[in-house]
Formats: sequence, C-alpha cells, structure tokens
Amino acid sequence: MKNITIAIDGFSSTGKSTVAKQLAKALGYVYVDTGAMYRAVTFYAMHNGLIDKENFNTEALIQQLPNITITFKFNETLGFAEVYLNDENIERKVRTLEVSSYVSKVAAISAVRQKLVEQQQKLGENKGVVMDGRDIGTVVFTNAELKLFMTASAKTRAERRFKELIERGEIVRYEDVLQNVEERDYIDSNRADSPLTKAKDAIEIDNSEMSLNEQFNKILKLAKVTILNA
Ligand code: C5P
Repeated sequence: MKNITIAIDGFSSTGKSTVAKQLAKALGYVYVDTGAMYRAVTFYAMHNGLIDKENFNTEALIQQLPNITITFKFNETLGFAEVYLNDENIERKVRTLEVSSYVSKVAAISAVRQKLVEQQQKLGENKGVVMDGRDIGTVVFTNAELKLFMTASAKTRAERRFKELIERGEIVRYEDVLQNVEERDYIDSNRADSPLTKAKDAIEIDNSEMSLNEQFNKILKLAKVTILNA
C-alpha cells in the first residue's frame, strides 16, 4: 500500500497532537509535532536571555539559530518521539504556560520558520508521516494527500489545556490559560509569514462535541480511504 502524508493543522489545543499520535500508531507512520520545534526555539531563547516579559531580542535569536539543533527520539514507553534541544530532552519543559506565552512571537519570525520548515520537509520527505502544526497543509506539505483542519470553541480548548497543565502539576489559573489560547490564536492567524488558515483542500473537523474515540474513528476512516485511493 502507498504511504501518504497527513497534514493536521488548526488552532491551539484542538487535540491535533492526540489524534496525530493515535493515527501514526495505527498506520505505522512517523509522527512529527512541529509545535514542539517552535517551543524548543522559544525554550532556547528563554534560557539564553533573549526573551522575557520586558524584552525580546529578535536579532540575537536570528544570529544564534545555527546554535540550535532540534531532534526527536522515539520513547518506547510513551509511544511517541520526544523533542530534544542540543541533545537535552526538553519534552516536558516546553509544555509550560510560560513557554506558551512566548512561542507565538518566536514563531512569527521568518528566519525561525525558514529553518524549521526546511527540517520538517526533510523529516517528511519519504511520506508515511503525520505532521501537525499551523502551516503544514498550506506551506510545509502543500501536496499532502490528506489535510485536516481542527477546530473547537476557545472555551472548550482552554478547558482541555487547563486540565492537562493541572494534571502535569503546573499551578495555573483557568483565566490565564484561556487568555493564552486566545492570544496565540490571534498572533498565529494574523502574522505576515505563514498565518494559520485552512487550506482550500482541507477537511474541517470541529471536535467541540466529539469524544476522543469518535474523533479518532472518523479520522482513521478518512486516512484509510485516502490511502486506498492514493
Ligand atoms: O501546537 P502547539 O500549541 O504546541 O504550537 C505552539 C505554537 O507554535 C503555536 O501557537 C504557533 O505559534 C507555533 N506553531 C507554528 N507553526 C507550526 C506549529 C506551531 O507557528 N507549524
């Protein structure tokens, strides 16, 4: 059977990565979490004094991009690939609300996008890949055989993200999580370079009222039909 490319885009906390992981496992495909890559660059900027509440040294970050190496290593126990920054496992460290509060500003820098998109295209060059992000169907793999665009109400998404953060032991307020989700949606959708938008040939899935199982079954069916017709 032919391997295809599956592009999953959408707003923050729409459950893209959950379904992408399930799908990759079911199909024996590679899963690439491109949000983790933008988070890794943000983590680097935070830990090298380039970004904080008052300052953001865009020029220095662009100059230091060659010092940033992002890799993924499959974790058998977790069943997915964790993200590494210069050989340090930062999978958990990049999921904090603090990283989320800066990541969209970092992701709006064209030089950052250029570097990461190039790496993403290499990671997916052999197909058999499920990639999730904001510009996968519109920029990274415009020829992807299956493109999905996930949506859900901001309130539903903030509730999901809040629950996730609390379960991980972060002390956060729901209002701050909601604000972050809305702020990232705004920046991601309005930036000049590769704004978040639904590709013309993407299938929109609103999962506000869908269980994880319902969502997975619906998407798996779509993937199987696409593979058969590829
Ligand atoms: O998917 P996740 O929420 O982890 O992504 C974090 C941020 O990274 C997004 O809010 C967006 O600013 C940026 N991003 C992007 N393009 C992608 C993936 C993520 O701009 N392909």
